[in-house]
Amino acid sequence: MPSPLSSPGRRLLLQMTLAGLLPAAAHAQAVFGPSEAPVAPALSLVVLGSGGPAANGRAGAGYLLLLDGVPRILLDAGPGAFARLGEAQLSLARVDTVLLTHLHADHAGGLPGLVKARAVSGGGPAEFRVFGPGGRPARKGPGGGAYFPSTRRFIDLLFGPQGAFAYLSQFSAPLHFSVRDVAASTREPLTLLSGPGLQIQAVAGHHRDAPSVIFRVDYQGHSITFSGDIDPAGHEALWRLAQGSQWLVFNSVVLDPPGSPEILYSLHTAPRDIGRLADQAGVGHLLLSHLNPSIERHEPEVRASIAEHFKGPVLMARDGLALTL
Ligand SMILES: [Zn+2]
Repeated sequence: MPSPLSSPGRRLLLQMTLAGLLPAAAHAQAVFGPSEAPVAPALSLVVLGSGGPAANGRAGAGYLLLLDGVPRILLDAGPGAFARLGEAQLSLARVDTVLLTHLHADHAGGLPGLVKARAVSGGGPAEFRVFGPGGRPARKGPGGGAYFPSTRRFIDLLFGPQGAFAYLSQFSAPLHFSVRDVAASTREPLTLLSGPGLQIQAVAGHHRDAPSVIFRVDYQGHSITFSGDIDPAGHEALWRLAQGSQWLVFNSVVLDPPGSPEILYSLHTAPRDIGRLADQAGVGHLLLSHLNPSIERHEPEVRASIAEHFKGPVLMARDGLALTL
């Protein structure tokens, strides 16, 4: 019997999936072994949200990581990710780990809807391990910055006994959260979780006054690092964690100076620096995300600027993009 991969139709399906041209539902069925049984890739990514914070047609930041074809890890939970989850025909029933890069609304504001989707998914009691930044008091004066709750406090404010959505804990399935804050002083890679073939590490990032975390997931020899929103003060930490990562998801919000409003350079990283960091960290592929119309309009310049230092492949994210890593 000929190998199923020799079938032109299936080869096209595989190519389309690897190129991220198919929705995630087709993804797990797309790779076939000699016995025609689907072989799920060890680590794959589905982009639930590639935009934010303005409403420009992309959902706010959100990603699902699939281990052996099963959605297990949610990274960020921006508004709109809920709808993209349904469009991808993916279930949260086995998701037990939530990684929050920071607590801006375009990254964490969709969490209640996603948690409720999990509660009604039929997956039974849900145990979420949540990792995110520690808190920050408000500081007065120029450059003082805003108050941010710790991730532990944030989850309690949403789902705790006195929380806004306290009812959810007994609504459809018992919910339990175990939350760990990653302190802003975390400069060296900190292992948050390790299991068979799996390691999740973090360092503190920098996003002006918002406490933030950079995450890296390694599974069965594959690896992906998420910059989160990051300004230059976080570059050294990112470089440290992303060393040799096969994929780096970098939030690309500004053009090289002076192409974007001055204030944004205290929050985000310019394309030239993205390319330099990706090169210095020795990553394999760059996926630019958190995109806006300015970046889309100037994509050739953004790519040229990144290519000054980074010679590997650069992809632009879009909602629903599915990648085998
Ligand atoms: Zn953002």
